[in-house]
Amino acid sequence: MHAIRSDDDLSRFLANGIERLRRDDPELYDLLQKEYLRQANVLTMVASSSIADPSALVCEAMPTMNVTAEGYPKARFHAGCRWIDEIEQLAIDRAKAAFGACYANVQPMSATSANEIVMFSVLEPGDTLLGLELDFGGHLTHGSKASISGQVFKAVGYGLTRDERIDYEQAERLAKEHRPKLIVCGTTAYPRQIDWARFRAIADAVGAYLLADITHIAGLVVAGLHPSPVDHAHFTTTCTHKQLYGGRGGLILIGKDFQKTGPDGKRTLAELVQKKVFPFFQGAPNQSAIAAKARGFAYVVSPEFQKVAMRIVALSNALAAAFMKKGHRVITGGTDNHIVVVDVFKRGITGVNAEKALEECGLVVNKNRIPYDVNPPTVTSGIRLGTNGLAIRQMEPGDMVECVELIDEVLAGVQQLNEREYNLDSKLRARIEGKVLELCQRRPIRTYPAPQLATRAA
Ligand SMILES: *Cc1c(COP(=O)(O)O)cnc(C)c1O
Repeated sequence: MHAIRSDDDLSRFLANGIERLRRDDPELYDLLQKEYLRQANVLTMVASSSIADPSALVCEAMPTMNVTAEGYPKARFHAGCRWIDEIEQLAIDRAKAAFGACYANVQPMSATSANEIVMFSVLEPGDTLLGLELDFGGHLTHGSKASISGQVFKAVGYGLTRDERIDYEQAERLAKEHRPKLIVCGTTAYPRQIDWARFRAIADAVGAYLLADITHIAGLVVAGLHPSPVDHAHFTTTCTHKQLYGGRGGLILIGKDFQKTGPDGKRTLAELVQKKVFPFFQGAPNQSAIAAKARGFAYVVSPEFQKVAMRIVALSNALAAAFMKKGHRVITGGTDNHIVVVDVFKRGITGVNAEKALEECGLVVNKNRIPYDVNPPTVTSGIRLGTNGLAIRQMEPGDMVECVELIDEVLAGVQQLNEREYNLDSKLRARIEGKVLELCQRRPIRTYPAPQLATRAA
């Protein structure tokens, strides 16, 4: 008898898996195939997504999934973790290296749980936290009543100035008035740079901890195209699937404050997080997602990703300029990151109708509230676009003029019936759809099949 060993055992294992899926469950296989082709055939400008490299995607399908491994490397509550430990340690080391952090926890299942974990690390139920209001580009987890953060804690929200920039003065005033124990900065729909040092000064002035949630801009931070909060904030959180092009999940980082003691004066910030991830919030981590995260962390420090990151910013700048040239109102008059928010209500169309009409034509964007929005969250007055998915298609800034022309034509063709219903001429739809497909074919996702112009019909 001899142990199985061959370099391609794993490849054959995966190929066998996909063959069996195709043979034994054609219904599911067909749906997965459709989703794969959809991504190739539409322009995804959803700011909160990216196209993971197949080398990261495939990690999610690995037999690491079979291992239950409560605890941390070299300190598990289960046996059989020899390689699991090395994989998780590799992910931790790579995360620390990518972000220049002193501590990393790669187990959180999402950015949402990463934020909750940090909150419960330093807050008691009923304590006060200060975060950016949802309506102004903050995230649900930053104190919204719809999330645990706004129900368990007393959440106070700061907003934007009239010129749509973060109102640091208001944040400082509210901090002095409410004495929060935690201040949250970082956003989900804010196209401008964030001044981490200023937030830290506000936090220090009132003895609060600072959490920087960089979920949207993590890739730009790694690439040095947005300043890093890691040594300014006490905690930095991100997901690993929006701009890190890696596995789906969350990440908690701590910079130079990692050995600082927490509110109890005993345990360090790193120790507190460690215990709140497991066993307080989670059980056994998703080891396949951790492998995919490890792959993503290696990818984002590569010279290849540096080019992608530069393209992300160049494209969003070109996108914002093209919208403004067509007479659209772009929130803050431009962008510093991957996000462009456009006021479509000014053209008489609600965000939700714009989103639906554009998607019918293969242009995928999100409805989004704009500062001082007059429409409710399910309707909105704006659309939010992001360039992560365009940069991976190696698009050039010049292509953004074409994208905006397509979007503009659709918006001009929408006949709004009411805030949630509209008509779109079917000839216009077919024409734009064809043009989108052509553009997708000209600028294919490098690692996906080039769209076949004939296969779109369905
Ligand atoms: C998307 C987002 C989250 C939540 O991410 P999930 O991984 O989907 O839970 C948290 N914070 C910000 C700023 C986000 O944009």
